[in-house]
Amino acid sequence: SWSSSDSVISTDSTGETLGPGKPLRVLLLGGSDVGKTAFASIFAGAADSMESDDCQMYGDEVCERTIEVDGEEATITLLDTWTTEEDGRCMAEDQCMQTGDAYLLLYSITDRASFLRASELRITLRCHWPARHTPIILVGNKCDLVRCREVSVSEGLACAAVFDCKFIETSAAMQHNVWEAFRGIVRQLRLRRDSKEA
Ligand code: GDP
Repeated sequence: SWSSSDSVISTDSTGETLGPGKPLRVLLLGGSDVGKTAFASIFAGAADSMESDDCQMYGDEVCERTIEVDGEEATITLLDTWTTEEDGRCMAEDQCMQTGDAYLLLYSITDRASFLRASELRITLRCHWPARHTPIILVGNKCDLVRCREVSVSEGLACAAVFDCKFIETSAAMQHNVWEAFRGIVRQLRLRRDSKEA
């Protein structure tokens, strides 16, 4: 379910990043064990029935693939650099925060601490992009683990409303709503692009 905060996406003064043929750089953010790697593997096609030969890998953490959204193709470069934070191999947080055109902000619905971490990251993002209305989707992953739920759907929705972003619950394990999250990002970026052209 999407949050109702589907506000008009404002234009920014800088962005030349959203030409129709240009890959959209989507960054996976979130605490550890929330499912970022699982998301990246689904995107890369490792655990997916879709053809994976159209996914170009650039090292472990970056994958590019073209998907069709509402009848129009979009190329996404997925960056999972954040995952390596724990290994001490991550680029500086600042740099991470600035690499994306859009962000999937993950938490696990079974881990309240990861939900709080997502809020912190959202605040950090806002500091980095004060003037830009950067597309962000708050993603409550592991919704298959109903008995272990610590964060309710309404809490997720409320958080997304406060932070002015979209919200979706997913299960990477069940491959539920993962592509919907990527499509949502593309739709938000298009809204922004179209409002610029208008
Ligand atoms: P990361 O640290 O954010 O990259 O998290 P991972 O993708 O490595 O996932 C952490 C653990 O959670 C792994 O054991 C995954 O198999 C598991 N996991 C990831 N997504 C889901 C999900 O949607 N449902 C369930 N049940 N487990 C998941």
